[in-house]
Amino acid sequence: MQKNDLKNLIKDICESLLERIDSNESSTKEQIINYLRDSVDTISNINDEDISSIEHAKASFNNKYKDILNQSLSSYEFSNNKFRELTQLQEQTIGEYSNNCIDIPTLTSKFDEIQSHMTKEVEKANKIILNLTAKVKILEEVSNLDALTKVFNRRALNTYLSDVCSNKDINYNIHALMLDIDDFKIINDKYGHITGDKILIFISNILRKTLRDGDKIFRYGGEEFTIILNRNNDEECSLIANRILKLISSNNLIYMGQKISVTASIGYTKLIKNDIPDTLLARADKALYLSKHNGKNKVSGVME
Ligand code: GH3
Ligand code: MG
Ligand code: MG
Repeated sequence: MQKNDLKNLIKDICESLLERIDSNESSTKEQIINYLRDSVDTISNINDEDISSIEHAKASFNNKYKDILNQSLSSYEFSNNKFRELTQLQEQTIGEYSNNCIDIPTLTSKFDEIQSHMTKEVEKANKIILNLTAKVKILEEVSNLDALTKVFNRRALNTYLSDVCSNKDINYNIHALMLDIDDFKIINDKYGHITGDKILIFISNILRKTLRDGDKIFRYGGEEFTIILNRNNDEECSLIANRILKLISSNNLIYMGQKISVTASIGYTKLIKNDIPDTLLARADKALYLSKHNGKNKVSGVME
């Protein structure tokens, strides 16, 4: 082994070593020491007897360097692939989130859009409802029907009685009956106002079913009804009134699982010469008072 041969080998190894260190931007102290160890190992393994040993050592060192470089490159590539994979996974995940509608900004703006659309629709609906409520109120005011019981109302009674009283050509009997529910206040207190309303409807239905087409039923007010009968004598009128009371007292109203029994009182009178609506109704009222006074669930007549 010649001194110069060894010097040349060390020069080559030094160049390769510096190349190795430069190729790795983040070479650490430990890595550089490892490179130096490799160099020492390479020189230590030179066989003094073998003339080709220096060339072999150089090749071996460079190969070792190339292996390490290859390893580094492959691990860099691996990391790069991993990074690519992760990036792809991230993109895929973002894609999946978007596909699953968890795109919060878009979702928020969509919700805002829907919200404002709905608010507008609700405002429109409110205007329509207010408008309709006002129209219904006007219709109810000009209507002849009682909104709850659907029998004629007090206004219709006034008109009807005014016509009857002013018509001098009527040559048949007209009877007026005042019906008042007994102890309705107690019923309201016991079962509630809604049940009370159901009873008013229940009694209206009984009246509708019992009376003839030509007869008229009016809700005078509260729990009072006025019935106008045509073409009956006094006795028939009394029979009809009693039949009504019998039907009311014998038919229980079943409401919300409760059996509610109710009675009513009736006072009746007949249209006489020179009657005006007030005088006619005052006599019926007087008769009703008698029925109440005599124990309720009764029929009384006052004819003059
Ligand atoms: P009486 O036997 O002497 O007639 O006694 P009453 O309790 O029936 O009579 P009162 O005049 O003391 O009470 C009438 C009750 O009718 C009081 C009122 O709250 C009730 N009423 C009036 N109008 C309605 C209505 O539309 N619905 C309901 N549920 N109750 C009504
Ligand atoms: Mg009353
Ligand atoms: Mg009453």
